[in-house]
Amino acid sequence: MAAADLLQRSLGAVWHPCTQMRHHQPGATSPLPLVPVVRGQGVWLEDASGHRILDGISSWWVNLFGHCHPQIGAAIKAQLDTLEHVMLAGCTHPPVVELSERLAALTGHRLGHAFYASDGASATEIALKMSAHYWRNQGQTEKCRFISLAGGYHGETVGALAVTDVPLFREAYAPLILAGTSVMSPDARQACAGESPADVARRAAQALEAHLDAHHRETAALIVEPLVQGAAGMAMYDPSYLRHARRLCDRYGVHLIADEIAMGCGRTGTFFASEQAEIWPDFLCLSKGISGGYLPLSLVLTTDGVFDAFLDDDTARGFLHSHSYTGNPLACRAALATLDLFRDEDVLTANIDRSRRLRAAFDARFADHPRLRHQRARGMVLAFDVADAPPDFSRRFFAAGLEARVLLRPIGATVYFMPPYVIDGAEIDHLMDGAAVALERVLA
Ligand SMILES: *Cc1c(COP(=O)(O)O)cnc(C)c1O
Repeated sequence: MAAADLLQRSLGAVWHPCTQMRHHQPGATSPLPLVPVVRGQGVWLEDASGHRILDGISSWWVNLFGHCHPQIGAAIKAQLDTLEHVMLAGCTHPPVVELSERLAALTGHRLGHAFYASDGASATEIALKMSAHYWRNQGQTEKCRFISLAGGYHGETVGALAVTDVPLFREAYAPLILAGTSVMSPDARQACAGESPADVARRAAQALEAHLDAHHRETAALIVEPLVQGAAGMAMYDPSYLRHARRLCDRYGVHLIADEIAMGCGRTGTFFASEQAEIWPDFLCLSKGISGGYLPLSLVLTTDGVFDAFLDDDTARGFLHSHSYTGNPLACRAALATLDLFRDEDVLTANIDRSRRLRAAFDARFADHPRLRHQRARGMVLAFDVADAPPDFSRRFFAAGLEARVLLRPIGATVYFMPPYVIDGAEIDHLMDGAAVALERVLA
């Protein structure tokens, strides 16, 4: 399909996500380009006119090893000719068993039970439901409320919005959403003069403690994004917060849910972000990168203690949640190929050097820029905030980035980089140069 044809037909028939469709239409006051992508290879996307655009945000944080990776593709193709899908209720199959065992091993068997779904929001809902149902099975039916962090994002289904604190995503649906409470985020950008990130974490932990002290009786779980709150604008915080949270949850008898949907799978430097705080949650949600960015897959890992609390002759005490494509063999096979790459290519070690090179290239262009604030990085995530950005900054930067052949999609006034783990030195320069050109154009 030619570029113009593809765009016109897309606008006619496809309702795009997270988009005011008016911004895509001709004549919009603040237009947002729609990119007709026809091919992908490594960090590159190719549009219908043959332009190569560097995918600087891993296609919404899902892609880990580049587009059209030969090993992941081969694994899916082999599975396709063996077993494409079978229901997971009453049936099982090799890919789901192998994947569950390998994930359990990655947690040192602390989280030895995997429950599957297809998207991140469903993983959130599963963790919330499992937590509340656990307490119910223990006779504590009043423990059914949830706490989340200010600015937290855990998905946009009606249930997940109870713990998602992004006003733009919530407001229109306020009457539909279950009441939840958000407590102070440990976001290190809130540091007062002389305060370290660990001090902010301590202050946030005190707010959590005050809330739990008053409300632990009706609270089932606290849900957090470990180390980096993605949709809040890559808000980074000190790992000590997770230790405080673990200790407080234990003291008050409340579950800790780690939503590692975005920050798991090596993004922050360790396979699980929680590892950097040396804690394990009661529930750990994964999606996005777990299939390498190939197929929809999400899962919740949990403990023997939680699993055992559902074992009973009574059907209703079991966890009866289900989705039709739960544990899809193709998606599990993609995830196994992804874990193979982590193991065989020692990706976490290679990423230490890769993230250093990203940081150096980032600092060279953005560290001393007068309009930028809070330049920050953790692992393979880098970000800065633009001071006094115009209200349509994000759209204008996206458009200017495309002209410089980089796909970057700021969150409000925060520009961030989350490239695939295969980006090389020349590609790092292309990415950072493209971002610098786009920034100057938008600020001019
Ligand atoms: C993306 C994301 C989700 C939701 O995942 P979907 O697959 O988009 O439903 C939940 N939590 C976090 C931290 C995410 O980044």
